[in-house]
Amino acid sequence: MSHYDSMQAAQARIVGDFRSDTVTRPCAGMLAAMAEAPLGDDVFGDDPTVAKLEAEVARLLGKQAALFLPTGTQSNLVAALSHCGRGEEIIVGRSYHLFADEAKGASVLGGIGFEPLETDARGALDHEAIAGAVQPDDPHQAISRLLALENTVSGSAIPLSHLQDCAAVARQHGLSVHLDGARLFNAAASLGCAVDDLAAVADSVSLCLSKGLGTPLGSVLAGDSALIARARRNRKMLGGGMRQVGLVAAAGLYALAHNVERLIDDQRKAERLAQGLARLPQSGKGAWLCHQATNMVFVTPPKGQAEALLRHLASAGLLAGGAPRLRLVMHKDIDEAAVTALGQAILDFANLQEA
Ligand SMILES: *Cc1c(COP(=O)(O)O)cnc(C)c1O
Repeated sequence: MSHYDSMQAAQARIVGDFRSDTVTRPCAGMLAAMAEAPLGDDVFGDDPTVAKLEAEVARLLGKQAALFLPTGTQSNLVAALSHCGRGEEIIVGRSYHLFADEAKGASVLGGIGFEPLETDARGALDHEAIAGAVQPDDPHQAISRLLALENTVSGSAIPLSHLQDCAAVARQHGLSVHLDGARLFNAAASLGCAVDDLAAVADSVSLCLSKGLGTPLGSVLAGDSALIARARRNRKMLGGGMRQVGLVAAAGLYALAHNVERLIDDQRKAERLAQGLARLPQSGKGAWLCHQATNMVFVTPPKGQAEALLRHLASAGLLAGGAPRLRLVMHKDIDEAAVTALGQAILDFANLQEA
């Protein structure tokens, strides 16, 4: 059996890959759009498909301009470098991706400091804490320059009014606002609000095409023309200037046309799973914790059981990640049968019978 065949065989045993919404494969329609896309050298500004995607994202988010980047991490880093200089500082949630999951790139590469703040249970910042974190004009302190918000935060959709309150505090103090909207369309679908209203709270917005929207890769940063011009230079500096990348931008255009409306289906799958798991014991020594937020369900089994649960699920072709708290993510390649199988497998593990 060739390597490819054994990979196919392994994949065939997978009932559902719940590790992340980044694991989706491009559908036939998306691949056809990629194959047909007109291409050019995007570093020369010659790729019409990239230009079309950037214009479309700018339009959807209500911004003047946008920039296509390979990853959300690079998009956040480029945003940080485009807003802040050396010796300046970003106020950010301690759990936010920009602070917690990007190897402190803004500090390492940009000489930019972080002022991390605690978030509440849903992942939101406190606007009084933001005001308190702004540095006074004092030579002992770095210069506060940027407030970095996030939506969704670990799946939780933060309401528009809350983002507006936080952004208002930032602006009172002369700070700019960046919104890490890796899953902004999931937030908009869940909140029932327009994505451009969410984007309007910030000067720059970063969006991932490679998560629930289902492309193989790609992120977009949107903002005003001057910011995006600086971002284009910073992207080149970081090695993110790509050539005939309309090949991938075409997948993004396809995703924006076909995969936005369906995001609410992923939330419905997560809600159905969480409802099924409500039968798990909620109190006492063997208590389970279960929490659903947009397209994600978080399950904490009784102490010491997470690894065994992950193995139990894997043996049934159900891939999940995280211990002691499992994160189960719904996406377009998870069908209803896989959701049912996952719920059943968890109840089996807990020795409960399906109702
Ligand atoms: C995934 C994610 C990123 C980074 O995206 P990559 O494409 O994986 O680099 C940034 N912020 C948030 C909130 C994310 O979920």
